[in-house]
Amino acid sequence: MIPTFGSYHLGNVRLHRSLTPGLSAPFDADGFALADIAVADGKISSITAHDRSADGVDLGGRIILPCFIDCHTHIDKGHIWPRKPNPDGTFMGALNATGADRTARWSAEDVARRMDFSLRSAYAHGTRALRTHIDSVAPQEEISWPVFETMREAWRGRIELQGACLLGIEGVRDRKWFDRLAKRVAAAKGVLGVVTYMVPDLEELLDQVFAQAINHGLDLDFHADETDDAAAISLKKIAEAALWNGFEGNILVGHCCSLARQPDLDVLDTLDKVAKAGLAVVSLPMCNLYLQDRRPDQTTPRWRGVTLLHEMKARGIPVAVASDNTRDPFYAYGDLDMLEVYRMATRILHFDHPVADWPRTVTATPADVMRLDGFGTLAAGGDADFILFKGRSWTELLSRPESDRIVVRGGRAIDRQLPDYAELDGLMVE
Ligand SMILES: [Zn+2]
Repeated sequence: MIPTFGSYHLGNVRLHRSLTPGLSAPFDADGFALADIAVADGKISSITAHDRSADGVDLGGRIILPCFIDCHTHIDKGHIWPRKPNPDGTFMGALNATGADRTARWSAEDVARRMDFSLRSAYAHGTRALRTHIDSVAPQEEISWPVFETMREAWRGRIELQGACLLGIEGVRDRKWFDRLAKRVAAAKGVLGVVTYMVPDLEELLDQVFAQAINHGLDLDFHADETDDAAAISLKKIAEAALWNGFEGNILVGHCCSLARQPDLDVLDTLDKVAKAGLAVVSLPMCNLYLQDRRPDQTTPRWRGVTLLHEMKARGIPVAVASDNTRDPFYAYGDLDMLEVYRMATRILHFDHPVADWPRTVTATPADVMRLDGFGTLAAGGDADFILFKGRSWTELLSRPESDRIVVRGGRAIDRQLPDYAELDGLMVE
């Protein structure tokens, strides 16, 4: 029996070194220490090394993590799969299918209902903050941004919602329109985002993007090089543009798949620039595994699609992993469960032997990138927003779905009921 309100003590829980900066206790080789947590008035009043003689419930060494931070999603696209599947599992198949669905079906009501469904799932799984990209190809920006603003208000206090506009870099060529979009994003306190790939005028267009971000005081969020083509070096171009524009805001870059296909010397040069420019990188392991190296004629994929997170982290580049797409043509699966993302990342990206501080990739690091003070770690004086798992070790935690995890928000266990897919049936008919 676990108390879910008022003041209480959770005794004998496992906390991770990388997520509990204030805890002084003996940590084991996996980075865990046994601890006791006191909660009062929705806050953590203390975290101390486990004391057998202390009052409170003995939780038998179960793991507690801070609530998750999901810094790269597409909840405006989410759950359209039943009406618009990807015909062949390729990136181009995804792009074309989504474009057709957006043009035909993305009314304010359609977008709002799917967004709300996504947020309820994320909340039930233990996510506390989420950034979504918002397809902003005209005229969709006029429809989706007001929906986003309404949704952000409705969810305030449960999920901190951030939005970043999403368009191909070529859209920036229409300077007047892009200027209007940047103003719209600024009015919504959003983030300026574009998708970069190798176009002849990439440097010029990036300068436009940086100029607008500086002009409006916006952070930046890129999709870069989501391809196996080794000639795709837009990550390097973004880092160079950040340096020569003297950009001081936060920059998050997603995907960077082609980096893993490039010669070592080129990689090192790019990573030097990424570190110097202060870029953060988010890998989207599930989506990359699904789309990258998709081969014709039912042949088998031969690479994992993810970027070089280990090499980045070794250089001090902030790195995160996130959900990306859920049940849309870019990824047929997913439910915005960041435990699933972390479990898959552990397997695809080798977040183990040692686990080290990889747990920060779904908590503290994306919180920093999203400027969310006090999110993503557990500390005395902080909000009592955490997840209590059954697992007592990494192998226990990451072997089962942990569908019975307990999510505590403001000191209280929340109702973890997931929305029923049948709710969306009305949006799926022709
Ligand atoms: Zn994405």
